[in-house]
Amino acid sequence: MAIPPAVLREMQEVGRDLYRLALVTSHGGNLSVRDGHGMWITGTGTMLGHLEARHISFVHANGSHEGPPPSSDTVLHSTVYALGGVDSVVHAHPRHAIALSFDTDLFVPPDFEGQLHLQDVPVVPLGPTQVEQITMALQSRRVVLLRGHGAYAKGQTPWEALHWVTALEESAHIAWLRGAGRQA
Ligand SMILES: [Zn+2]
Repeated sequence: MAIPPAVLREMQEVGRDLYRLALVTSHGGNLSVRDGHGMWITGTGTMLGHLEARHISFVHANGSHEGPPPSSDTVLHSTVYALGGVDSVVHAHPRHAIALSFDTDLFVPPDFEGQLHLQDVPVVPLGPTQVEQITMALQSRRVVLLRGHGAYAKGQTPWEALHWVTALEESAHIAWLRGAGRQA
């Protein structure tokens, strides 16, 4: 099964942006695009900044896959798609957002853009129900944080999901700088 060129290009470009914006390490993060009852998803441990067709797996609705071993987050992606209304999911490690996630259950952006786009961002604790909690939170929010780990964003396209990850990190960076300013 060959990945459609337009899907490949979109995943390559968004993966490259995630890496170049320092939102993932060289081998971190993952992203997927829904395709009918299945999805295209990055393989486990692939480099998002250097994606080729051979790094992307197709996962069928029954869980079987073609191509490389799919991301370890595959169940989360497929659970989000099963609930409907979403065509792409992006997972990244935005550092300021992760730093803030340790000490709050809900990140409220202090800036206009963040409030406009994100409203607020639930922080899900690590644990056996984290997949269910992230999936449920994404029903009403564009992006969710997993405490001490990273962000999961949804979109109609990978570009839209990238938008919410970058908006989150910008707001978290502003919140961080604001905290430092208050201490000065
Ligand atoms: Zn991760």
